[in-house]
Amino acid sequence: MSTMRMTIQRRKILATVQGLPGHVSAETIYHRLKPEMPELSPSTVYRNLKALADMGRVSVTDMGQGWVFEAVGGTPHHHLVCLGCGEVEDLSDSAVRPFFDQLERRGFHVATNHLCIYGYCSSCQEKAGAQEAAR
Ligand SMILES: [Zn+2]
Ligand SMILES: [Zn+2]
Repeated sequence: MSTMRMTIQRRKILATVQGLPGHVSAETIYHRLKPEMPELSPSTVYRNLKALADMGRVSVTDMGQGWVFEAVGGTPHHHLVCLGCGEVEDLSDSAVRPFFDQLERRGFHVATNHLCIYGYCSSCQEKAGAQEAAR
């Protein structure tokens, strides 16, 4: 039995990821499917998601609060993730593409289509600045 087999379970998990906009956690998918698949366990969902990621069917990213999954096939996009408040901003592929092209030119093939850049959003910087001033 191949582990790359598309089981009914795996198909349903993939369909659930595809049906939800943006990033979803394994937990969200588990809660979605549990009513119709009582035999499902969180670890099964997680294992299947990882397998789907290996198969290139979903993208997997750690956005600071654990792994999140997203259906592959939409427009490539990237994220700016705030380490202060956890806010996630979308970054268009065109903003990142010149950098990727540059890497390709120096002989490095970029295999990621989903980048997370960590930092602090403007409101968190303001808050930090205010704390600094109050000291
Ligand atoms: Zn994303
Ligand atoms: Zn923030």
